Amino acid sequence: MAVLDSGYLVQGADVERFETAFADYHGAKHAVAVNNGTSALIAAMMAHGIKAGDEVIVPTFSFFATAASVLSVGAVPIFADIDPDTFCLSPSAAEAAITSRTVAIMPVHLYGHPAQMHKFAEICEKHGLFLLEDAAQAHGAKIGDRYIGTFGTASFSFYPSKNMTTGEGGMVLTQDDEIYRQLRMIRNQGMNQQYHHEVLGYNLRMTNIQAAIGNVQLESLPQWTQHRIDNASYFNQHLKGVKTPTTLDNYTHVFHQYTIRVPAAERDQLLKQLNERGIGARVYYPSPIHHQPAITCVRDFDLAESDKATKEVISLPVHSQLTAEERQYIVDVVNDLRQHSESSLAESADRM
Ligand SMILES: *Cc1c(COP(=O)(O)O)cnc(C)c1O
Repeated sequence: MAVLDSGYLVQGADVERFETAFADYHGAKHAVAVNNGTSALIAAMMAHGIKAGDEVIVPTFSFFATAASVLSVGAVPIFADIDPDTFCLSPSAAEAAITSRTVAIMPVHLYGHPAQMHKFAEICEKHGLFLLEDAAQAHGAKIGDRYIGTFGTASFSFYPSKNMTTGEGGMVLTQDDEIYRQLRMIRNQGMNQQYHHEVLGYNLRMTNIQAAIGNVQLESLPQWTQHRIDNASYFNQHLKGVKTPTTLDNYTHVFHQYTIRVPAAERDQLLKQLNERGIGARVYYPSPIHHQPAITCVRDFDLAESDKATKEVISLPVHSQLTAEERQYIVDVVNDLRQHSESSLAESADRM
């Protein structure tokens, strides 16, 4: 209401406050707020001067915008496979995909589990590449004491389904002063001062209305994250007959999604039964990006783990508003359904 009363609706004090608070939360040097997470990714590509003829290595098991951002600057997304335990880009697969045209690697902290950023930092250092982060699902995730978003130029989303929201919204974090200067221009018509357009830019600005919501949301982020982690550890302890998610040692997974695996032949049936029993289970993502009709640039890599994951995953509700009763209900329903599944029946037949 204060924003509306003030009449200053776009790119003002609330946006600056949100940028500072979000950067501080993650221990990052600079933050640039934008109008959504896709814009954050595109702005990061542009700020690094990524252009036609360049290649950027990304996972194929992610949301489409990960690759679309690369295509949007005329560059080519090169898809590499995931590590099946964390669902995140495999460092060795990414390194094997490097060519003389590669300019950057952009891992995704998928479902809120940090990608192995120390390894990616080493690989990028060795080959002279930019390290980018698609952090749309990982607000507040950490490796040891270090927050994601501080390893490379990192793009966040504040879409309503994410761990915190501004309705629509996004943010780029960077440690680099020149990237920060570029990002601020790209967000605002390429201007470095009014009506002086130094580079090509767009209107990617965040409103003060969004930022005011973001400032309030950010205060609750630690508590909401803890709820997600508590819900996940409850599921880990009580679910039976499914493969529960892995968290690497010393990593803080923020559980944007709590994603289990079941045999591919039983996945769709389980999903249907969960939905019929009122559980909002979903599949993220039913197809790898390289199978999307819009993608025509696939090189012949082994993407088998990504293909397999798209057929086996189910995400269960893990959000911070879940009640103890709902959590218990989810466990009871999943365990009941899995007990009568083909694979567990086969297992008991084997034992006989
Ligand atoms: C949500 C999401 C985006 C895009 O963010 P928007 O705010 O929806 O534009 C990009 N990458 C990943 C991995 C996402 O989950």
